[in-house]
Amino acid sequence: MTETSTATRDRDLAGIRQQVEGERSRLEHELDQTKVEGAGGSGSEAPFHEHPTDHAGEMEEHERQLAIRENLEQMYVQCQDALNRLERGEYGICRSCGKEIDIERLKALPYATKCIPCKEARRD
Ligand SMILES: [Zn+2]
Repeated sequence: MTETSTATRDRDLAGIRQQVEGERSRLEHELDQTKVEGAGGSGSEAPFHEHPTDHAGEMEEHERQLAIRENLEQMYVQCQDALNRLERGEYGICRSCGKEIDIERLKALPYATKCIPCKEARRD
């Protein structure tokens, strides 16, 4: 019955929305924790002077932090994008073919924007 399956999908989507909202707050918190010192700054006050080898570890740590932060930002954007689509009622609709994305796929990958056949065919 279509009615029942639509109701189930709505309930599943509501669950996914909660999950994504939770994920977004977690990411916000993590982004707060990983503020990278000097990122986007002029660099003139960088604490690197005459003995670069003394700071090799710091440099690596700095790069690692930047990579982590970049990753978090990307995930945050995906979260926000999913929530925007939920808001507009576009969530769970394949960007390529316009069909509904399988709910099990969305549960496993809430940020999916394409259905499995399109993803596999790499259609854009
Ligand atoms: Zn598709």
